[in-house]
Amino acid sequence: MQSTQVIVVGGGPAGLTAAIALGAAGVETVLVAPPPPADTRTTALLASSVTALEALGAWAHCRAEAAPLRTLRLVDDTGRLLRAPEVRFDAAEIGLDAFGYNIANRHLVTALEARAKALPALQRRSEAAAAVSIGDADVTVTLASDECLTARLAIGADGRRSLCRRATGIETNRRAGRQTALALSFGHSRPHNDTSTEFHTPDGPFTTVPLPGEARDQAKWNPVSRPDHAPNHRSSLVWVLGPGTARRVLAWDDAALSAEVERCSHSILGKTAIEPERGIFPLTTETAERFAANRVALIGEAAHVMPPIGAQGLNLGLRDAAQIAELVIAARETGADIGSDALLARYDALRRPDVTTRMLAVDWLNRSLLSDFLPVQSLRGVGLYALDRIGPLRRLVMREGIAPSASEPALMRGVALHQD
Ligand SMILES: Cc1cc2nc3c(=O)[nH]c(=O)nc-3n(C[C@H](O)[C@H](O)[C@H](O)COP(=O)(O)OP(=O)(O)OC[C@H]3O[C@@H](n4cnc5c(N)ncnc54)[C@H](O)[C@@H]3O)c2cc1C
Repeated sequence: MQSTQVIVVGGGPAGLTAAIALGAAGVETVLVAPPPPADTRTTALLASSVTALEALGAWAHCRAEAAPLRTLRLVDDTGRLLRAPEVRFDAAEIGLDAFGYNIANRHLVTALEARAKALPALQRRSEAAAAVSIGDADVTVTLASDECLTARLAIGADGRRSLCRRATGIETNRRAGRQTALALSFGHSRPHNDTSTEFHTPDGPFTTVPLPGEARDQAKWNPVSRPDHAPNHRSSLVWVLGPGTARRVLAWDDAALSAEVERCSHSILGKTAIEPERGIFPLTTETAERFAANRVALIGEAAHVMPPIGAQGLNLGLRDAAQIAELVIAARETGADIGSDALLARYDALRRPDVTTRMLAVDWLNRSLLSDFLPVQSLRGVGLYALDRIGPLRRLVMREGIAPSASEPALMRGVALHQD
């Protein structure tokens, strides 16, 4: 039985970030993480998440693979009688160069893994946790190979079917939606100009998000290339559909799907050619009743799952990771128990308002889009009209959207938790 200070279960972006934050501060940590499954998604990392990754020394590995998000457009494409005006958010309006950066999950995870490998206090076991058992003074994680690890605290970063969560007996409030998201990347003949566009359709949002790089067909589309030409002819797509439509669309060949992507984006990006990988994700809304108990703290999708609207999911997960690391490092400095009930209750209290407000906002936006009820549609239209017309309201929403005004972990403000 190996004894360590903290065990992090799950090597997705949230688990890796928590493990790096702890390892960089010299907290003896074991990351239990089998190689991650293939992922076609990209993540729009908001500015505060980028700041945190910079402070952890991981952003340098990401930068070349990430595209800035400078403008966000919301376009009502419901075709309904009552349609909302287009709303446009510009990062410059709140004094930012960009709202954040979009990066493929596989590049983000590779970058985090590279940073994790460089930390002597952080060890990795490339296998799954098979069991988690909780004692009064410690928690034991049994690996698939039967090796046992014990620690004062386990961080459950093991995703939506979290073994750690089940081991603690924490229940969730779960609602399976009637929607599925199709995630893919595509090249296009017109530049994206660092702009993400969210078309609101009656099935859910159809959102294009900038990526760096050229489309494979770029030379064919634009034979005369300019020397000052920025490589901005690739984007990712998150297309929320009803499950029946999603199954149909998934069966189309590349040419048919490319044509449909071009049609649904109203050709704003010109000709489109999808890249081969496609992934579908049934959408659910799920929140753990408690984010920590019995020497286990839950982070990322082990704690909360939400539809991919407004780029909130992993940004919340990174704030969870930063918050638990901050509490553990502070407790260790005073010699306190890093898995105590008091510390876990504090973690829950600090994360609850941020998670709850974002879950509610995303849920309301999504439901109001799907609703056939005229008063709900009018309310949504009035809200978007107000955002379009009232500058201070729009700026408040932009600031709150990229960082919560309450309880932001220090790492998100660039305060390093470790000394190099
Ligand atoms: C289509 C789509 C687009 C999205 N876009 C955005 C966006 O733009 N911005 C944003 O902020 N969020 C976005 N999200 C949400 C974001 O993708 C998730 O919040 C994020 O991937 C969750 O990361 P995680 O580390 O918590 O979980 P995961 O990525 O699910 O990682 C969990 C890890 O735990 C491992 N694991 C599971 N069980 C065990 C075990 N027993 N032992 C060891 N390891 C285990 C798994 O192998 C996995 O690697 C999007 C989601 C979808 C569906």
